[in-house]
Amino acid sequence: MEHIYELYNDLPRQGPGDNASTKRALSLIPVLPEKPLILDIGCGSGMQTIELARATNGTVTGVDNYQPFLDVLLANAKHNVKTVNASMDQLPFDKGTFDLIWSEGAIYLMGFENGLNYWRDFLSPGGYMAVTEITWLNDNPHHEPKSFWQAAYPEMKTVAENLKTIKSSEYRNIGNFVLPESSWWEDYYFPLLSRIEWFRKKYSGNNAVLAIADEVAAEIDLYRRYSDNYGYVFYVMQKSD
Ligand code: SAM
Repeated sequence: MEHIYELYNDLPRQGPGDNASTKRALSLIPVLPEKPLILDIGCGSGMQTIELARATNGTVTGVDNYQPFLDVLLANAKHNVKTVNASMDQLPFDKGTFDLIWSEGAIYLMGFENGLNYWRDFLSPGGYMAVTEITWLNDNPHHEPKSFWQAAYPEMKTVAENLKTIKSSEYRNIGNFVLPESSWWEDYYFPLLSRIEWFRKKYSGNNAVLAIADEVAAEIDLYRRYSDNYGYVFYVMQKSD
């Protein structure tokens, strides 16, 4: 685990995404209170947390269970950002607290359906949720990405299936869009490829540790070849009461 964190340290972000997509998802939300309370779950080092604080007059609370990421977020945040070190499945907040719950590249850790169901209670009546989730973009994916993701994240679904889950989890669908391929590369996979190169030099000869880098490199190569089969999708929804 320690080596995985070492590999992912110092990246601009820890998953696909970009500020333009964060703002696009935010713009789908019709109305928020003047000073909304926003919770960003699995915030990592917080690129999107800071963008949310910039784009609203609200207070954004970033939750993560890895303190070094929260420290980077606090060091970079200028205003209206708090951090809480907690697990996303044991949130230390009162029910009904937040006007908006945000989560980029992290709901998969609980599973899409579990996350929607557990986090729902922390929304105020009529509150909004915006999450990104890795999603099949093709009903008949190639067997290579299919077997990779069936092992890594068997719950991965199509957009239509996730929209059904949103409805059955008592949310109203507001909108969704596929993140651009550039959001995988610019602030995530390109910097990660540089880290992998550095990591391979540092651990040269240590096969057990190098296997971690090989696995991550294989995931990147898979996306390079099959980005038309799967991608990250932003799902924006409203709690229906
Ligand atoms: N949202 C950030 C982004 O898009 O760059 C980070 C996404 S990263 C793929 C997932 C994040 O979830 C990591 O920062 C990790 O430390 C955090 N995480 C993992 N398990 C967690 C848990 N049980 N509770 C809270 N955060 C968790």
